[in-house]
This record gives sequence, structure tokens and C-alpha cells, in this order.
Amino acid sequence: MFIKAQCAKCAVKPEKKACRVEDGNGPDFCPTKYGQEIIERANKQYQNPDVYEFARQSSIQEAQCYANRDRKPPVRQPTKPRIKEIIEFAKKMEYKKLGLAYCAGLQSEAGKLNKVLEFHGFDVVSVVCKVGCTPKEAIGIKQSEKVRIGEYESMCSPITQAKILNEAKTDFNILLGLCVGHDSLFFKNSEAMATVFAVKDRVLGHNPLAALYTLDSYYEGLIKIQD
Ligand code: SF4
Repeated sequence: MFIKAQCAKCAVKPEKKACRVEDGNGPDFCPTKYGQEIIERANKQYQNPDVYEFARQSSIQEAQCYANRDRKPPVRQPTKPRIKEIIEFAKKMEYKKLGLAYCAGLQSEAGKLNKVLEFHGFDVVSVVCKVGCTPKEAIGIKQSEKVRIGEYESMCSPITQAKILNEAKTDFNILLGLCVGHDSLFFKNSEAMATVFAVKDRVLGHNPLAALYTLDSYYEGLIKIQD
């Protein structure tokens, strides 16, 4: 069996990494050096015409998010926020109908995103997480496990969101603020490829990375206290 990949712990300098340069180095847990069989199998998948085009356009879009790419030595100069990246990518793929699966807590942001996407010529189908108004009791939730204890609460229903977008035959789906786990169910049930515009972080203004940026200060508890 293949060794456990641990790229997140790799200390090889970027300009020497096996995954970045030909004949580069990698530690004992390096999947580039020791995962050839898997890499070959995955690479074959890119030859499927649909996957090939999707991957090709993603890569072109990635590069086009930087300016002055011919500069030597290279200096990263990003120019496009994610909203533009999504719009440009969807245009490259010639998508016409976009699905927007969003969280009720971001109703206002969903309206703005919808407006921007329509302005750029897309036909947008939007579905809120609470669609269906199915009570949380349907998935065994007790009163004590609700957000508002003692009240009627409709469950987040990412499977319904996905099915409605599947029915509408959207070309591409965009997630906005779905909860952890609800997003997973959406991905599993979406027939169209899906991307994330923003994830939910109720405390950090939907910027979960802020906890890592402050791991050495205000969020040190994350690596000092196990609760
Ligand atoms: S693929 Fe290998 S060289 Fe690249 S980050 Fe992972 S362990 Fe390091």
C-alpha cells in the first residue's frame, strides 16, 4: 500500500520540490516520488474530453488571475477577486445557466451575487438552504439540538437544493455559505460541476483563514486546548 502522503509537513524548498521542478526532491512521504501508479491513473482521467476541457480552462483562468506573467524573476501580482474568476471561468466554459445554492443567513449576499451574475448575462437559478420547509425532526433532531430551542425549525436541505438545480439542468453550480456537512451533501448530489464562492464562518466574517492567520496570537487555543 502507498505511504501516507503528508505534503502539509513537507520542508523541501519550493524551488526544489519534486512536485514543482523536474528531478526535484521529496521526503519519504512524498506522493510525487512514491505515488507514480496513482498519478498515472489520475492523469489518464484528464484525457476524458469533458474533464480535459474543464481542467484546461481552469488552468488558463488560474494564470489569467495574475498580471505581468512574463516578468523575470517571476513576481506574483494577483489582479482578480474570486467573483471575477468565477465569471470569467464560466464564460470560458460557455456556460449559460448557473445554479446558486446559498444559505438563508446570506440572503442579502445571494441577492447581490445573483444580480452580478445576471448582469454578466447568465441565467441564474437560485435555491436557499431551507427550501422545502422540512422540519428538522425529519432527520431526528431534538428540541435541545436546534438553533432556536423550542421553535419550529426547517432543516437545511442541500440534497433538495442539488436536485432542484439538477432538474433545472444548470451548467455549473455556485455555493454560497453552506454549512460544513451541508456543503458535502450538495457536492455529492449535484450533477453539474460545482464551485464555492464563499464558505460560512459565523464568527470570522466568512473568512475561516483568519483563525490560522492569528494562530500564534488570539487563536493559539486551537493548538493548546482540546475541547
Ligand atoms: S509532493 Fe513531495 S515534494 Fe511536493 S509537497 Fe508533497 S511531499 Fe513535498
